[in-house]
Amino acid sequence: MSDEDHRRRIPRTDRLLALPAAREARERIGDAAVRRIIDAQQRAAREGRLPAERVEPEVERALRAERPTSLTPVLNATGVIVHTNLGRAPLARRAREAVLSAAGYVDVEMDLETGKRSARGAGAREALLQACPDAEDAVIVNNGAAALLLAVTALAGTGEIIVSRGELVEIGAGFRLPDLLVTTGARLREVGTTNRTHLDDYAQAIGPETGCLLKIHPSNFRVQGFTAEVGTSELRSLADEHGLPLIVDLGSGLLDPEPTLPDEPDIASALRAGADVVIASGDKLLGGPQAGLLLGRSAAIRRIATHPLARAMRSDKLTLAAIEATLRIAETPVSAALHADPGRLRERTLMLAERVGAEVVPHDGRVGGGGAPGVPLPGWAVELPESASERLRAGEPAVVARVHQGRCLVDLRCVAEEDDERLAEAVLAAMRDPEPRRLGLR
Ligand SMILES: *Cc1c(COP(=O)(O)O)cnc(C)c1O
Repeated sequence: MSDEDHRRRIPRTDRLLALPAAREARERIGDAAVRRIIDAQQRAAREGRLPAERVEPEVERALRAERPTSLTPVLNATGVIVHTNLGRAPLARRAREAVLSAAGYVDVEMDLETGKRSARGAGAREALLQACPDAEDAVIVNNGAAALLLAVTALAGTGEIIVSRGELVEIGAGFRLPDLLVTTGARLREVGTTNRTHLDDYAQAIGPETGCLLKIHPSNFRVQGFTAEVGTSELRSLADEHGLPLIVDLGSGLLDPEPTLPDEPDIASALRAGADVVIASGDKLLGGPQAGLLLGRSAAIRRIATHPLARAMRSDKLTLAAIEATLRIAETPVSAALHADPGRLRERTLMLAERVGAEVVPHDGRVGGGGAPGVPLPGWAVELPESASERLRAGEPAVVARVHQGRCLVDLRCVAEEDDERLAEAVLAAMRDPEPRRLGLR
């Protein structure tokens, strides 16, 4: 067939637009997106990447797969629980329902009994205080970084922030906490060394310019060997001596000590040790939406809540709904993955391996999201050839597995059991189909 003939056989745009799938999709994703999909398939055919007679079925397939946003839901088969690139914590079913029902008009700032204005997000704050009885008061903002910025601005002003050199960490994607801290106009006063900081280092640094003492949990790395750090309770005594506020940034969001993660700090312990303000995350280990939680003594929280910057960081109703629902349930998907029963995990992995004709290998999961670095969560994975990973990502549902030492490892720890069947189908399809389908045709 000549090029000319081939080109003539490519279905025309008006014919493709008239397909029932196109009419249905227009309502769901809009006219521009439908045209873009049609255009991409026609172009693939013109450039010889797709036979002309495949254009129509490929358009239909692509239209069906297209979502209202660019965010594609994925099955997390990496074994990394709080996976930053995959949106950290998956919300529990109750929390998802709460988000959906808060998405319309909702009484976020109104008392329905009196019809008067009420405090925004009072329910989420209430739930947080019930979950953290050691806190006198709490504020919720957009994320941990915002919470840190706000606490330092409200409590230290343009004074000096005294902080250990070993705690000035980069938290990922090139963001460094010291850079963030100085944007507030405050000055950093680093004390101690990378591996060792003593109480006396803090004491020596305190002067008329001091605005606050800050302790940061260096969540994503560990210093081992000849090390020393000063605990929150010792810093409390020092802060009291000089009338200074003590801020403790935990990074993650454990409410109480977690036996499986003995080195991971928790909110209750930090409050009991005497922090004026504890900063924690809504989605790292707490298992809720992204949020920055500020908890502590009422005077400090009051100053934070009434600072003008607090308005620029306040949480929206969807986050407030998700936080409140998350705090009211006993188990989140994050805690389920952390405490996954090893026997059941092994059984599920064996079933998947048998179904797809592959081997089971030992595989350690991880907390991820900068939590509990170096702590393995022993488990298993189904081992596939490395090349399967690309096809898994391009599949429907998209599956993200771990690529390690030339193998593709499918770990079920973070896959809900009800998704096992969809995962098996996706793995089978990826092994059957030699060509990644979605990639390159968009
Ligand atoms: C992750 C982290 C933050 C930032 O929290 P986000 O919710 O990602 O903004 C701040 N401090 C520490 C110690 C962290 O680990």
